[in-house]
Order: sequence, then C-alpha cells, then structure tokens
Amino acid sequence: MKVTFLGTGTSQGVPVIACECEVCVSINAKDKRLRSSVMIETEDNVFVIDAGPDFRYQMLRAKVKRLDAVILTHAHKDHIAGLDDVRAFNFIQKKAIDVFAKEDVCNQIRNEFSYAFAIYKYPGVPEINLHSIVSDFTINNIKITPINVMHMQLEIFGYRIGDFTYITDANYISDKEKEKIKDSKVIVLNALRKKKHVSHFNLEEAVALLEELKPERGYLTHISHMMGLHQEVEKELPSFIKIAYDMLTIEI
Ligand SMILES: [Zn+2]
Ligand SMILES: [Zn+2]
Ligand SMILES: [Zn+2]
Repeated sequence: MKVTFLGTGTSQGVPVIACECEVCVSINAKDKRLRSSVMIETEDNVFVIDAGPDFRYQMLRAKVKRLDAVILTHAHKDHIAGLDDVRAFNFIQKKAIDVFAKEDVCNQIRNEFSYAFAIYKYPGVPEINLHSIVSDFTINNIKITPINVMHMQLEIFGYRIGDFTYITDANYISDKEKEKIKDSKVIVLNALRKKKHVSHFNLEEAVALLEELKPERGYLTHISHMMGLHQEVEKELPSFIKIAYDMLTIEI
C-alpha cells in the first residue's frame, strides 16, 4: 500500500492569503501546504480521503489518472469543496464515483452539491454515488474501519486501512475508539499549531497521543502557518514522529 500526502495544510492552506509571516514567506517547499488529503494506492485501487478546495490541482500535481472512490472525514469545506472536480474521472472512467461518508455528511453533500442530485440534471454535473457508512466497509476487497473521533462537538470519522490509520480534525479520541487504532504501524494525526485550539489537537497533544499509541511511525498533518517552520519544528519531535509535507509518499 502506498500513501501520498496530497495536502497537509489547515483550512486556509499555507501560505495564507496576504500573510507575510516567516512560514508564509518561507522558500522551503515543505512549508507550502495545500488543504489536507491523502491518496491511497493498492494493487487494485486508488482512492483519496477527503477532496478539499485543492482537489483539482492535487490530482494534476500527483498525476492521478484513475480514481475509484472518495472517502470523507467530515463536511467542512476544506475537506469537501473539490468534489465537483470528480467530473474529470466520470468522463474518463465513464461511471459515477463512489463517495463514502457518515450519514450527516452525505446529507450535507446532497445540500451543498444539490445540482448533482437533481432529478433533471444539467448536463456535465458530477456523478456521485453516495454511500452512507456506519461501520467497517470495503472498497474492492479493501477493508476500511471508521474511527469515531471528536472535532470539538462534531463526531467525525478517521479511518484505519490495514496497518495505516488517518485521523484529521480531531481533538479527542475515546479509549474505545483508540482500541481500533492500536497496533497500526503508521498513524497520521492532525496537529494544528503549538498553542491550544478548541477543535484540533495542538502539537503537544498530538505528540502525547502518538507516544501513547506507539506506532512505528507517526506523521502530523492539517498544519497551520502558526506551527512554525517545518525544519525547526521537526527538530523538536521524537524520532518516530515526522511532520508530513505535501507529496510525501510512504509505503506500508
Ligand atoms: Zn479541516
Ligand atoms: Zn503566515
Ligand atoms: Zn474540520
């Protein structure tokens, strides 16, 4: 299984429009972050977790030629805004794209992309097959386990696929849900910045949780410009934890 980080930035991305802080003006490519998403490639499947506003450019940048499914964590715009651009894959593959999400997220997709679900559709709208999920599901024989995590008051999904767990936009995970993550070789966790935040883990909380869960490798994502320079922050971390960066690929 190959995982590519298509984006590792928080909702505003990095650089932030009109910001001239040292991170936003950094010339290090690792300080440039599109909105958070990963692509997972197995022998027979290519799918992404989340399709935010940068989805189109992410598909172009990673030269993605085929997409079997989109799995969504939650319906915040930085995770769904790019869904319209699955049209390109509809045209090439001559079929609808399967989109998997929690029921409340499916409902929000139906509202926000209502034109794609109209009875009489305008020609060329995205073709989306929505699948409401509550527990383990499969995409072409790949088992995917949703993990319930809290994003402040909102219960959203992280996902475990084999030895890989991806959790974004969380600030609390119950012990029961942690059991589902245990023994993952690779865990990706969101860490927004150093300062405490109401709806995301900060750096200290994410590191503490990774130290508790003890994967072989931990990666941090959904990073804000307030986290500091990639190069500087990474020096402060335990050796098994890295800050993910755009287009990083890992094999599991
Ligand atoms: Zn987000
Ligand atoms: Zn900035
Ligand atoms: Zn969110």
